[in-house]
Amino acid sequence: MHRQIVDFALARRECLSRVRTGRTSLASVCDADTYLVRAAKFHGKQTDEVCPICRKEQVTLVSWIFGEHLGRMHGSARSVAEIQELDATAREFTVHVVEVCRTCRWNYLVQSYVAGLPGGVARRRRRVAE
Ligand SMILES: [Zn+2]
Repeated sequence: MHRQIVDFALARRECLSRVRTGRTSLASVCDADTYLVRAAKFHGKQTDEVCPICRKEQVTLVSWIFGEHLGRMHGSARSVAEIQELDATAREFTVHVVEVCRTCRWNYLVQSYVAGLPGGVARRRRRVAE
């Protein structure tokens, strides 16, 4: 169950408009490091959307998972299938979906959501207060 979905489409559009008008440099948005580019290659989900910067390839979506109960998987990139499995078996965790172009290294956080089995009420309350 995906919940608390936050979509960053608007912020992404604003970022791209800043790049087009030169207020944001290409170097600052096309800065995916080797680790992220590799994650895109091995765990990424190919999309139909052409890279908004170089238009040379379709962007890949990479999902990073974060959660105090994930152990060594905390902070790692995971495939859609792996996340589906964790969603049904693991305690609550957060997913950050990053759009990556492997050609020009454009990358942007496009969505975040919470998945996995809901924790106890106390934990949920604490999260709300954060
Ligand atoms: Zn590109």
